[in-house]
Amino acid sequence: MKKDMKEKGAVLQRDMQTYAVKVHVPGGFVEPETLRRIANLAERYEVQAVKLTSAQRIALIGLPEEKVDEVIAALGDCGGAAAGLCVRYVKICPGKMYCKRGQQDSVEAGLEMDRNYYGLSVPWKFKMGVSGCPNDCSEVCIKDLGLVGKPGGWDVFVGGNGGSRPRLALKLIENVPSREEALAVADRVIAWFRSTERSCRIGKVIGEMGLERFRGEVL
Ligand code: SF4
Repeated sequence: MKKDMKEKGAVLQRDMQTYAVKVHVPGGFVEPETLRRIANLAERYEVQAVKLTSAQRIALIGLPEEKVDEVIAALGDCGGAAAGLCVRYVKICPGKMYCKRGQQDSVEAGLEMDRNYYGLSVPWKFKMGVSGCPNDCSEVCIKDLGLVGKPGGWDVFVGGNGGSRPRLALKLIENVPSREEALAVADRVIAWFRSTERSCRIGKVIGEMGLERFRGEVL
């Protein structure tokens, strides 16, 4: 029976025959040239659909198995989005670079996180987000790790997730004055999680040990 090809980021579709290949689009920002390449591939391979995903990626849906490698190769650096036990993506809102409500530069911080962690191996799937203000359009509240901007700096949240057993993220530390310091906190959280031998979401681990103990170990 056919299965997902996680190492390629190709997901078996409902027909149990064809695959969706996801394109990594950091923060949902995409160059026109990349869009043209995706559109050309969609036409050439006669995909069933081109889907913008909730993870700010683009999925080419309905590829036969024997075409998956060709399409990933043709996509170049952005082909074969991360899947399996790794950092899947960083969801990024427009922040103060573009949004009139933005308090911090979520684009700069989020793209740095994407460069640092995208695809990094971790004990369980791991999703991240960065929002430029407390409106939290990137839904850090349901991310394993994320930053939320405010007038004086950043709040860092951990342990949220969606899915069938959703959890709201917990505020790990607030009013971190600079992007560098907030990213250093994120770095410690990821290093801590990688050092554990748990096979579950980080939010479950934090729930079991308690936020205060987690803070003591990470900060
Ligand atoms: S979270 Fe704030 S800064 Fe980001 S898009 Fe929403 S309103 Fe704008």
